[in-house]
Amino acid sequence: MKKIVIIGGGIAGLSAAYYLQEQKINDLSITLIEAEDKLGGKLQTADEDGFAIEGGPDCFLSQKPAVARLGKQIGISEDLIGTSEENKGTYILSGGRLHELPEGLMLMVPTKILPFATSSLISWPGKFRMGLDMVLPKKNSSGDESLASFVTRRLGKEALDKIAEPLIGGIHAGDPDNMSLKASFPRFLDMESKHRSLIKAMLVGKREAARSKGKKTSHFMSFVGGMGELAQSVAGKLDSVEIKTSCPVQSVNYSDKFHITLKNEEQLEADYVIFAVPAYAAADIIEQQDKQIAQTLRSINFVNSATVSVAYHKNDLGKPLKGYGFVIPSQEKRNIMAVTYSSQKWHHRIPNDNYQLLRCFVGGPKNQDMVLLDDEEMLTKVKAELKDILGITAKPLLTKICRWVNGMPQYSMGHLERVESIEQRLERFPGLALAGNSYRGIGVPDCIESGERAAKRILERLH
Ligand SMILES: Cc1cc2nc3c(=O)[nH]c(=O)nc-3n(C[C@H](O)[C@H](O)[C@H](O)COP(=O)(O)OP(=O)(O)OC[C@H]3O[C@@H](n4cnc5c(N)ncnc54)[C@H](O)[C@@H]3O)c2cc1C
Repeated sequence: MKKIVIIGGGIAGLSAAYYLQEQKINDLSITLIEAEDKLGGKLQTADEDGFAIEGGPDCFLSQKPAVARLGKQIGISEDLIGTSEENKGTYILSGGRLHELPEGLMLMVPTKILPFATSSLISWPGKFRMGLDMVLPKKNSSGDESLASFVTRRLGKEALDKIAEPLIGGIHAGDPDNMSLKASFPRFLDMESKHRSLIKAMLVGKREAARSKGKKTSHFMSFVGGMGELAQSVAGKLDSVEIKTSCPVQSVNYSDKFHITLKNEEQLEADYVIFAVPAYAAADIIEQQDKQIAQTLRSINFVNSATVSVAYHKNDLGKPLKGYGFVIPSQEKRNIMAVTYSSQKWHHRIPNDNYQLLRCFVGGPKNQDMVLLDDEEMLTKVKAELKDILGITAKPLLTKICRWVNGMPQYSMGHLERVESIEQRLERFPGLALAGNSYRGIGVPDCIESGERAAKRILERLH
């Protein structure tokens, strides 16, 4: 009997376990060990009096197929939902005022002239500078470049400060000056290398999508029961996996086999191990065995963030909310990074139409200490921002804070080289594989794929 141990029960670890189980290999035992008392990692949806509150992710990019594929395998495809069509629209706070993102702006690239020309968000010189993307030459070197340098070079500084930094940087809670484009948004590099201009590339993409006449799906998708439904449903299918929760792993050493020590001093042996924990946790676990890998793993930095959900009676809000919410550029110097109007973006998040549910993001690289405030202080600051920006003075009916200390890995310059050096060094331990958001993609679909890749790496050794 061969034994595989997966450490970490977030979506990456769960996906690895499910993939291995579904291969139905005889004489293979699979164990999944999780430090917390529940599975799912960042995928946590709480039901609070009929409000579905997302602690971590609230959606996934539908362009990446891994979530829909996994959802189908585990039988929850019917629960897939897109963003609500009637409330479409995202706003950006600039100069203390909310400006709607012009229609046709894809990621940060304008694809429709009229809405872009009439938008109040970008000044005329800024718009002209963005248009220069159509004629500027492409960069020839293939080396890494920061998001800030790339956007400034192609679209100008105003596009960086007002659009790319809050919108694109915000996805990673990252600092654009130090964010590796190659690791975070390789798609932009491809666009430049194939089409020279980002605007041209987006227009070609739009034409091709229109020609393929496929069923129009929402760009962002989720599940009726929130993203937690995905994690809990995968976990519910793991009939052939031994699951241990509330069992933090202390260390893993290797001699002939892997020797796993839990913090409660229990010992386990395994032929294969998958680390599906954040890189800093993997470093702690492997430190005794290999200080060099531990050091490189620790060089991947993480930042703190938190979500603060607040629910109101619709009538208490004064003005109706417009769109799905807004993002805030760091130059506005606010205590929050973004607000999603969860009840406007998704159906099924509130008990009925008399309510609104808002989810505020705090922390990120420039405001990490905010996450360490106690609940009352954090709420006071968040409510002050909601009052100032949206005029909300009512007392919320419900509040829920979810802190993610060291929750977001930073793909800083040279990230992929660091990952490659970790992977090379791991060749010394053929039965060990890494998965999770620290390495080759932060989004939920990327994490699922990373779990499946790690499982395949182990299976190659098995056969
Ligand atoms: C606030 C927030 C919003 C986000 N929004 C989105 C979004 O809308 N869309 C999207 O695609 N992505 C989003 N993300 C990113 C995405 O949620 C994460 O990248 C992804 O869920 C990470 O999955 P994972 O399995 O790699 O790691 P995790 O979910 O962090 O799981 C790792 C697990 O390992 C466990 N662990 C750690 N140490 C040990 C140990 N020593 N022993 C045993 N177990 C251990 C942890 O308890 C945890 O359960 C968001 C992230 C955050 C924080």
